[in-house]
Amino acid sequence: MTPILTPYKLVSRELHPHDTVVKIGAVPLGGDKPFVVIAGPCAVESYEQLSTTAGAVKSAGATILRGGAFKPRTSPYSFQGLGLAGLEILGRVSQELSIPSVTEAMEVVDVLPVSHHAAAVQIGARNMQNFRLLTAVGQAGKPVILKRGMAATIQELLLAAEYVVKEGNPNVILCERGIKTFETATRNTLDLSAVPYIKLHSHLPVIVDPSHGTGIRELIPPMAIAAAACGADGVMIEVHCDPAHALSDGQQALDADQFTALMRRLRPVVEAVGRNL
Ligand code: PEP
Ligand code: MN
Repeated sequence: MTPILTPYKLVSRELHPHDTVVKIGAVPLGGDKPFVVIAGPCAVESYEQLSTTAGAVKSAGATILRGGAFKPRTSPYSFQGLGLAGLEILGRVSQELSIPSVTEAMEVVDVLPVSHHAAAVQIGARNMQNFRLLTAVGQAGKPVILKRGMAATIQELLLAAEYVVKEGNPNVILCERGIKTFETATRNTLDLSAVPYIKLHSHLPVIVDPSHGTGIRELIPPMAIAAAACGADGVMIEVHCDPAHALSDGQQALDADQFTALMRRLRPVVEAVGRNL
């Protein structure tokens, strides 16, 4: 018998030494698979906006499209997302461009429609410990991108993942997206040490979101490159075809040219750590 020492069990390397590879659509993520770039706007705003942005990120080399339809906003007066209409746009663009997509489910009733229109379900930082929601996505069976809560420890993140896996869904990708600290210069403090720590203790894939992690456009390329260097399995980047007119998170959105430039800078670093892009 193996004594189980960690509070998380199913997601721990102790019981499962080999890296888990999660497939989003046809795109494998984790283990020795290529480094994955997930890109797209913070929010789906219109068919034209998503279609233009998606075309640009795909031709620059992104293999998964992101775009929120249900948006968790700090202010109730901010754009809340297009809801079901946004999901339909996401599903349509994803199909037209043959690129799988991920979008957030904010509550249990969102899980079914999100699972229908997208290839993966995102659980946002604010919902990392919404245990009913974690159980629901565990039962839905779609791949899950679970974002670290802004005040959550790594152990709490791993225990949140345990809720999903416990329901029989092993397809969980963890996402470091920055935590609240005393520092106010950046939107959050991107804890890149979480990446090698999680890799040591869990078999689940880990990605990094430097967009929410820093909140500052100029910091996104260097932190995305640093994420690749420290062993992340991928990054999630906010890109908008017209950042100045974005309805949410415009200040942290790269435009198409900036994203293309980032992809070029990323490649040699990804290759230096023994992976492909
Ligand atoms: C997002 O990715 O759109 C988002 C809201 O991120 P987070 O939950 O990490 O704040
Ligand atoms: Mn955002």
